[in-house]
Amino acid sequence: MHNQIDELRQLSARIGADPLLVQGGGGNSSVKLDDILYVKASGTWLRDALDKELFVPLNLEAAREYASSGQEDYLRLRVDDLPGGNLRPSIETGMHAAMPHQYVMHTHPVFTIAATIIQDHDVGHFLDGLHWAKLPYIKPGAGLASAISGLVQENAPDIILLENHGLVVGGNSPEDVEQTLLEVEKRLSLPQMELNKDFEKSEITNEPDGYKWFENKLAKDVACSGAAMQKLTLGALVPDQVVYLGGAAVRISDIHELDEIRLNWKSHYGVEPGLVFVEGVGALVREDLTKGGLAMVDLLLQLAIHIPDNVALNTLTPENQIELLNWDAEKFRQAVDAERKG
Ligand SMILES: [Zn+2]
Repeated sequence: MHNQIDELRQLSARIGADPLLVQGGGGNSSVKLDDILYVKASGTWLRDALDKELFVPLNLEAAREYASSGQEDYLRLRVDDLPGGNLRPSIETGMHAAMPHQYVMHTHPVFTIAATIIQDHDVGHFLDGLHWAKLPYIKPGAGLASAISGLVQENAPDIILLENHGLVVGGNSPEDVEQTLLEVEKRLSLPQMELNKDFEKSEITNEPDGYKWFENKLAKDVACSGAAMQKLTLGALVPDQVVYLGGAAVRISDIHELDEIRLNWKSHYGVEPGLVFVEGVGALVREDLTKGGLAMVDLLLQLAIHIPDNVALNTLTPENQIELLNWDAEKFRQAVDAERKG
């Protein structure tokens, strides 16, 4: 096996083990070796990179063409006779093909995401001296890949901030990529908020059918703060939130309000809300949430305690949400996640 793939595995496992950088099956990585692009398989978790075959070999030149022209069927570009040639390439394969660097790492880091969610946040001030660019929100997949391809042709940035989504970093060694990624996160870091206590903590009540309490002290603290909850109920903040939780978090003052909201959601979005705050009590999560869904709740709680109160936020539009909920590629990713044991 190539040394570079081993190095990519180690880098991926390290980055994937940090829930502040990657949650669940989110994020992906790649390396280019001669005319082959090795990219993470759909539905797999970066942190498993040392234990499982994670990378799919694809024809690099054809993948680049696909990325720039907005084609999406990367399955056709697999090099079947190499290890991993039977896996399904990530839905974000195009961004890896488009970046010119040998190593590319795409993550969903808390502070980068927060920085792109806060409206008019002056990221340029913090990233001064780095070779970076930023893209407005575009649904992950072909459209995003061709936008990245365009940026690369303009001035080939090493760092691309994706609004309401995450970060892409390219470099010529795994160390280079890791250092840049951590540097960006450090520069964009925000202090943890002191949460207001608008609601008295009250005892957890029975679980409504189909839901369970999210057992985490932070969830309870957020449920006691009106301002913290508001950041999560305003709208969906990232695409994986829509994919795994159905959309924005819901807030209710009494558990009996849940039934009507479930019906409403079902008729509007075809799913029931994945995350429901009950004021003063805690957070309910849908019982059928996958591990990826639970990891998403953790990310949202981190955003709630780090994004300052009372700032305007960028949220996904209803149209953004609908296009994510109707996406077949995502259904595959969720199905893989649902089978996950550990
Ligand atoms: Zn992503």
